Amino acid sequence: MTTTSRAVLIDVPGGPEAMRLAEVPVGEPGPGEVRIRHHAIGLNFIDVYHRTGLYPLPMPARLGMEGAGVVEAVGQGVTHLQVGDRVAYAAQPPGSYCDVRVMPAMNVCRLPDAIGFEEGAAMMLKGLTAQYLLKHCRPVEGLQAGDWVLLHAAAGGVGLIACQWARSLGLRVIGTAGSDDKCRLAEAHGAEVCINYRTHNFVERVKAITGGQGVKVVYDSVGKDTWEGSLDCLQPFGLMVSFGNASGPVPPFAPGILGPKGSLYVTRQTLFTHIRSRERTQAMADDLFSVVTSGQVRIHVAQRFALADVQAAHRALEARQTIGSTILLP
Ligand code: NDP
Repeated sequence: MTTTSRAVLIDVPGGPEAMRLAEVPVGEPGPGEVRIRHHAIGLNFIDVYHRTGLYPLPMPARLGMEGAGVVEAVGQGVTHLQVGDRVAYAAQPPGSYCDVRVMPAMNVCRLPDAIGFEEGAAMMLKGLTAQYLLKHCRPVEGLQAGDWVLLHAAAGGVGLIACQWARSLGLRVIGTAGSDDKCRLAEAHGAEVCINYRTHNFVERVKAITGGQGVKVVYDSVGKDTWEGSLDCLQPFGLMVSFGNASGPVPPFAPGILGPKGSLYVTRQTLFTHIRSRERTQAMADDLFSVVTSGQVRIHVAQRFALADVQAAHRALEARQTIGSTILLP
């Protein structure tokens, strides 16, 4: 059977206007693949990097890495999914901005009954990221309840999930965000203190809050604007986890600067290393599903756009006008 689907395409990298809705053919799933009809699609900052060409894709390209829906057809060799299953995923290759798609089944997980499609589409890429940040990126001495960590963009999609999850692990979270309202939101989601880094020097505030000690880990997805300051917030042997570039990529740096700042560790992480096998994806997803179904982490879907309004959704995300998670509705 071949059907068609609306899908968002770009022919060349560019601004939000580079995205266009087109009708594309959809066939049967091949070995290791499934066909999914979306009920909701997740919007992520990585989609902006793909659209602008910061993370290059072969052109023309489809966009979107996260979605939730129902399995319509299952290819040969796929044993963990059946037709009719409610599912959600964070997965490569990009292409979730559409009604229906064929894709590799490896990163597709069955959704627990208690989790709706909107939450599912809003939480997989962001929630699995929070999972590995908190559980699989550790400083030398490990993270323990009571340790301070710094989390930038704390009121965003990854941010609100990570604040709540970190708090449930007993960590003391200092957040940063771009407005006082966003700070209050992050504090309502588990940040002990949130600093408006547009009006305050976050390095000085972190030092004051931690009694001069600094934090054990910095989770930095802002990149260029916060890089240097983030290093200065760390205690000796502290760990800098760089995982995004919302303000632009981190400029090249000399490793020698890490010594005098306290023998620091730096890592650059990407979710797709962590979810490179079915077993690992499922184990991380089960952990995420358990904190969501138990209520320890609530998924805050704060913005909804029609798929056809994808340009407006990207403009809002890039203009820092969104909070929590944003979804597109097919
Ligand atoms: P967010 O909802 O967090 O949106 C990005 C936020 O970054 C903005 O809301 C804004 O918050 C902040 N920001 C700071 N400076 C800028 C700037 N110059 N322009 C735009 N935004 C800025 O997005 P996501 O939850 O989708 O992703 C968060 C980050 O995590 C992104 O950088 C993303 O790439 C990264 N990520 C990395 C992954 C990985 O494995 N490496 C996986 C998933 C996400 P404020 O106004 O409060 O500063």
